[in-house]
Amino acid sequence: MLKLDDKITVLKGVGEKRSQQYAKLGVNTVHDLLYHFPRSYIDYSEPVPIAETVLNENNVISGIITVKKAPAHIRKGLVIYKAIITDDSGDATITIYNSDYMFDKLSRGGEYVFYGKVTGDFLKREITSPMILSAKIEDKIQPIYPLTEGLTQPMMRLTMKNALTVLNSDIYEPVPKKHLTENSLASLSYALENIHFPKDMNELILAKDRLIFDELLILQLGMSMIKGRAKIETGCSMKAVSLQDFNKILPFEMTNAQQNAISDCLGDMQKPNAMNRLIQGDVGSGKTVIAAACAYFAYKNGFQTALMVPTEILANQHYNTLSQFLEPLGVKVCLLTGSLTAKEKASVKAELVDGEYTVAVGTHALIQSTTIFKNLGLVVTDEQHRFGVEQRALLSGKGLNPHRLVMSATPIPRTLALMIYGDLDISVVNELPKGRKKIETYAVTGKLRERAFGFVKDRLREGRQAYIVCSMIEDNDMDLQAVESYSKQISENQFKEFQVGLLHGKMQASDKEEIMLKFKNHEIDLLVSTTVVEVGVDVPNAVVMLIENADRFGLSQMHQLRGRVGRGKHQSYCILVTDNVTEESRKRLKILSSTSDGFKISEEDLKLRGPGDFFGQRQHGLPKLKIADMAVNMDALSIAQKTAAKILDYDYD
Ligand code: ADP
Ligand code: MG
Repeated sequence: MLKLDDKITVLKGVGEKRSQQYAKLGVNTVHDLLYHFPRSYIDYSEPVPIAETVLNENNVISGIITVKKAPAHIRKGLVIYKAIITDDSGDATITIYNSDYMFDKLSRGGEYVFYGKVTGDFLKREITSPMILSAKIEDKIQPIYPLTEGLTQPMMRLTMKNALTVLNSDIYEPVPKKHLTENSLASLSYALENIHFPKDMNELILAKDRLIFDELLILQLGMSMIKGRAKIETGCSMKAVSLQDFNKILPFEMTNAQQNAISDCLGDMQKPNAMNRLIQGDVGSGKTVIAAACAYFAYKNGFQTALMVPTEILANQHYNTLSQFLEPLGVKVCLLTGSLTAKEKASVKAELVDGEYTVAVGTHALIQSTTIFKNLGLVVTDEQHRFGVEQRALLSGKGLNPHRLVMSATPIPRTLALMIYGDLDISVVNELPKGRKKIETYAVTGKLRERAFGFVKDRLREGRQAYIVCSMIEDNDMDLQAVESYSKQISENQFKEFQVGLLHGKMQASDKEEIMLKFKNHEIDLLVSTTVVEVGVDVPNAVVMLIENADRFGLSQMHQLRGRVGRGKHQSYCILVTDNVTEESRKRLKILSSTSDGFKISEEDLKLRGPGDFFGQRQHGLPKLKIADMAVNMDALSIAQKTAAKILDYDYD
């Protein structure tokens, strides 16, 4: 009797040599083979009348062979066989090169189904080297498999049929029946049978649904287990203390979402296990204050906090914000970045070891081996997707399993967040502080560029400031030159009465800092920049964000850029300029102008571009999936999540 973990050599027709070819596809056992899913299917079940076939595309036709012509020997090694197939609507010429075997299979008067590219014109149709099926064949939907050299589709199909007989003797059903019924899912053996040889498209859909579910369920169960394992005891247990004086010192009232996130964090930090929490918030939702509150809580419990950010500009800004909130309460805050002098670094580090500084804000400099904390109790990383897991771990290693808080300014759909940050608990800050005005957003073509510039000039004359962001692939010199000459051009022409600054990723950190500072102090009116300005920079007087080549950016990325304006009391604007208008780009830009909800935008972005693209060039850390598609199967994902939770609860009872 056939078993799932039998080597495939037990299958008829699979010898040593074949099994090596299968091994290249990752197929070693019967089980592997069953999970070698077709990459597509040819549906022979609904042939097209010959007269209605779509020219220059693959069509399925069905009819009777009415004529078989004598083979034409064109030259040595080239024989052309022709036959004519007829159906109720008309006829077509079948052309086969060199294969007398194929040709001989066709008998005059016999009924066949053909699949292939149809050429010709509306009077004459021709189909060359088609796939040929007898009309009586059972599999009207044929699977097409990924192959490797030496294997063919018919061979694979035959072996697959053989392998599927295992379903009679050795099939298991890992998912409890009630979960299947609850979600209208087919049994596993039905799914495996029909993913390969469905009788119709409905069967195929049922099969796919079940296999997608399995894949996502396994992932979810795995995630939940990682999460369980991550819950290890902290050496930094904290107790409840009042944050009243902190709240009092704030120049504003916190939003409910901020308060909830803070209480999630404080709750976590009082537990015996280390906190592992992600704060997901839209741009401008006020995540920094949340970090400050947590740092203050840690301080009152006698612990240090490290806040790591990806850029120097951001480190400076956070340093300023945290000092402003915390220094009046007696908390000493320091800044540790690469651009400090060796002497400055040494002195900051010495005071961190002594415990003189309670809060350290910095870049990667924080994770250098020479940076040592006296009693690090809380580690915060901002703009998470720029840091790898290892970097987070390195920073955490500087304390006794300290509490960890991750802040992400890229709102992503919750389901996807659970997938990427499976080891983290999540708080969502989906509320903007009161009184924020909606940023008016317009998409225009390059033809209106001058008018857009005119609009920007009007705002600058009113004393406001503006950004122009150009897309640039950071290491591409051509792009860099383009941005530099763009900046030079507009500063000498359209904007010659204003101070124009240029900021790009290839500049020295100190130069960037200087430009940003000048912009902050309003010594620069218009800042031309690449996406380095993307993360977290706060200049309330800036009211226009003009994005050049908007079609080159992801929606979420543009939403973040847009978040750079609208931070003060003035009405703000975002202008998306694109010379390359397609149906798709129009659709994308429309989403941006119609909503300011970062979570909604990210969902659309995901749908339009898929998860691979979602974080641009950056590593997204998503697991490889065989059959499920994260963008399309969002519903299945949430069903799998719910079921995983139920299964785990059930097991723990
Ligand atoms: P982000 O979530 O994008 O990191 P920030 O923490 O930089 O947002 O906050 C953006 C701006 O909003 C800052 O100037 C901050 O002081 C301000 N802010 C934060 N919370 C509130 C609030 N509850 N009410 C008013 N302003 C707030
Ligand atoms: Mg921020």
